[in-house]
Formats: sequence, structure tokens, C-alpha cells
Amino acid sequence: MALLEAKDIYRSFQGFLALAGVSLSVAEGSFHALVGPNGAGKTTLFNVITGRLRPDRGRITYEGREITGWPTFRIARMGLAISFQRAQPFLSMTVLEAVAVACLGYQGRTFALLKPLRDFKEGLAQAEEALQKVGLEKQSSRRVSELPLGDLKRLDVAIALAGRPKLLLLDEPLAGLSRAERREMVAFIRELLRKEGVTLLFTEHDTEAVLHLADRITVLHQGRVLAEGSPEEIRQNAEVRAAFLGGGA
Ligand code: ADP
Repeated sequence: MALLEAKDIYRSFQGFLALAGVSLSVAEGSFHALVGPNGAGKTTLFNVITGRLRPDRGRITYEGREITGWPTFRIARMGLAISFQRAQPFLSMTVLEAVAVACLGYQGRTFALLKPLRDFKEGLAQAEEALQKVGLEKQSSRRVSELPLGDLKRLDVAIALAGRPKLLLLDEPLAGLSRAERREMVAFIRELLRKEGVTLLFTEHDTEAVLHLADRITVLHQGRVLAEGSPEEIRQNAEVRAAFLGGGA
């Protein structure tokens, strides 16, 4: 069953057609990659899916409900999370505090004076559990601003998972990492999300990593779907090779 469906999405910017009739179907439990050269429309599609941008035409359905044009917070409440730079607002906090705030926030609670201590303790316990899941328990008392990039990306994922999402969107999760760190991150994402039963939609430039992580790939090119299929089908697709070689991705 499709957890997320985008149907015939159009979006233009000052007359420039960034998305020209894109359809995408993400099956429940799958790891679905969205790839394509720079400017293909990947970020625009992510923004349309998460409600940051309105499509000019087309429909987005999630769990069978139409969510087109819904505000981002309402979409997030339905279990669709985007992990991109989640830790950013928490830079001055410790790792544990950042995840605890996220846990409480997802439950509709916020830190405030006179908040019951029970809520706070619950948040901390959940945060400790989340940090163990992503292997950051030893970093829990470090400041977020002091974390190396690889750990910061793990923290982003921990914060996104605090809301217990069904679908996680990752925008270039490997960007900026060394080759060894990329390999580690791929294993981390795969193991963690399988265990948690989370469906993944991600963009990524590292072709090798995409072929390792994804079980379904959609290739965008100039705002259109150029190809869709299994990693093996995409690897053998001549049109895809031509577009990638020509697009520099
Ligand atoms: P990708 O993520 O695949 O690199 P984007 O979705 O960022 O592609 O961009 C697709 C096209 O739309 C690009 O040509 C980009 O310049 C254009 N675009 C994206 N966002 C805007 C915007 N806010 N204003 C004007 N043009 C934009």
C-alpha cells in the first residue's frame, strides 16, 4: 500500500517550471530515494510534500487522506517527519536537553515555569531512550554546538524520531561526511529505521549509497520523472545514465 502519494504535481517560480507533472508513490515500509541532477526539483517536491510550498496543481495524499495545502505542523502531527537540521534551534543546549524538548514538544507540551515535574521526567526518560537508539548516549551531556557533523546528523534523526513518525524525509543525509562516515551513516539509517518500522523518502547525491540504501528509486530530471524502479532497473537505464552524466550529479 502507498503511504504517501504525489499525483501530477506542478510548481513554478516566476514562470519557471520547477515541477512539471511529477507523480510519486512511496510504499509503506520502503526506503525510497529521490535522485536527479542539481535543479531537478527534488527540494521543491520535498517542500510541497511537507507543506512548506503549495503546489500550483496536483494532489498529495498520505495514508489515503488528501493533505495538499495543509500547514506543516498539521502534516507533522500525522506522522510525517523531516529531519533536515532539526538540531539547529537547540545549539546552546546539551544533547539530552535537545531531545527532551523535542519529545515534550511532540506531545503538545512545552517547557515552562511551573510545568509538572512528571512531564519533565518523562521527557528526559524518552530522550535517553532515543539517544541510545541512535548511539549518542555517551554524548548526552555535550553541547549540541560542539558535536561533530556525523553526530549532529544522528541527533537530527533522534529529534525527528521523537515524534514517532511513520514516514521520515531525509534531505541529503550524507552531505559533508567523509567516505567512512557515509558508510557508517548508511548502516545506521538502515538498521534504525527497519527496527523502528519507519518508511523513508530521501534525496542523495552519492549514487553508491543510494543503490545500497534504497529499494525503490525515482529519478527526477528538469521537473519531470525520468525513471522509476528498483536499484537494478535504474542502474541499467540508459536514459538515466545520460541525464546523470550530463547533469553533473
Ligand atoms: P534540486 O533540489 O533537485 O537541486 P530544486 O527543487 O532546488 O532542485 O530546484 C528546482 C529548480 O527550481 C531550480 O532551477 C531552482 O533554481 C528553482 N527554484 C527552486 N526554488 C526556487 C525559488 N524559491 N525561487 C526561484 N526559483 C526556485
